[in-house]
This record gives sequence, structure tokens and C-alpha cells, in this order.
Amino acid sequence: MRAALGVLMLICTINTARADAPTRSLFPEPRPQVATTLVALPAPPAMQSLRPRPRPTEAVARTQPDRPRSTRQGSVCNNNDIKGTELEPIISRTNGCGIAEPVLVTSVNGVRLKPAATINCNAATALASWIDDGLQPAFRGQVVQLNVADSYSCRPRNNVRGNRISEHGLGNAIDIEGFVLKSGRTLTVEDNYGRQIRVAHKAACGTFRTMLGPGSDGYHEDHIHFDVSQRGGRAYCR
Ligand SMILES: [Zn+2]
Repeated sequence: MRAALGVLMLICTINTARADAPTRSLFPEPRPQVATTLVALPAPPAMQSLRPRPRPTEAVARTQPDRPRSTRQGSVCNNNDIKGTELEPIISRTNGCGIAEPVLVTSVNGVRLKPAATINCNAATALASWIDDGLQPAFRGQVVQLNVADSYSCRPRNNVRGNRISEHGLGNAIDIEGFVLKSGRTLTVEDNYGRQIRVAHKAACGTFRTMLGPGSDGYHEDHIHFDVSQRGGRAYCR
């Protein structure tokens, strides 16, 4: 009995000794591979927010609620090729006149408008497309200035009393009467309506919804009228 008790105590002592023993080695363990992997992971979003970041476009728009059409300084209509300034809304008592978001365009794709044209951004954008795709190819890239006969104007069509208000009254239209080339030469619609101007004129059909030039109706012998009216049907190009 005494011997059996001694064996039992010995087993307990061994068990206790095992329980007290460290479960892991006392030697430093090699750094697990996973730690290296974690270092390579991208910083959490909270860390990224501490870095200075470029100001988002929306923030610029919020601080300038009246000027949402501007992209960079000097550009309008969200198009860096269209230079000018944004104007206050043009409000008219005459039904059919006024522009909610007018722009005063001074140049388009490097071509000056003289004088600067007051139009809306639909017209300015169409003008930019035509200058790139129609006008400059017709003139082998030589046009440096458009002579503008009219842009925004609250008046009846063809200045005839009783007519409907012209698209000029909505900023949808621009009249061009001349083209100045790099050489300094000026070609006018009135005196030089030859192949080059005719090709440039016709190339605008579709980009603009209505075009009227020499030979159309007797009112457009010295200028070409371009407009982006929302009239239905096919473009009217004369
Ligand atoms: Zn016109």
C-alpha cells in the first residue's frame, strides 16, 4: 500500500512538472513568413487619407455654384479647346430670348473669334467640332481667325418684323462673315465664296442643325448662319 502511494505521488510530481514546463521553446522562434507578407500589404484607408490629395473637381464646382461650366482657367464648356469667360444668365422679357448659361467665346482650337461670340455651350461645342473636322481641313489648317457678324441677339429671323425669334435669341447661333489666314489674308463670304469656303460651309452640315449661306434665301449673301436649334428632322443645310 505504501509502495503504491509512493508511485502515485511520483506520477503526480511528474505531471505537475510537465504542467509547469513551458509549452514553447525558450529560444526565439524564427519570424513567421506571414509577418513579411503583411508589411507588403497596402496601407489601410485611414493612412491614405493623411496624404495631401488633389482637390476633386466637384469641390471646385461646390465653391463656385454659379460657374459649373469651367474646367481650367480660361476654358469654358468643359472643353480645354474653347477659351473664353462665363457670363451671368441672360434673362429677357421677350419670349424666345435669353441664355441660362452663356459663354463669351474668344477662341476655339486656337482660332480667334472677332469679336468674341456670346453663345451657349451647345453652339460652342459644335463650333469646336466644325473648326477641327471641317474648316481647318478645307483651309489646310491656315485659318487663324473667324470674323463674327452676329452671335446672341434677341431679334426676329432675318431681322424681319413679325417673324419668329431667331435662334440667335437663344444663343444657339453664330454668323461668320470672314476667314483670316496665317498669311494675313482675309477671305470674306461676300467676295470670296469659292471652293474653300463652300467646302468648309458644307462640312458643318449635321454638326450644326441649320446652315444658311449665299444662295439660300437672299438674307445670307454676306455671311453664313450656323445654329444648333433643337428642331426635329434632318439638318437643314443651304
Ligand atoms: Zn444668323
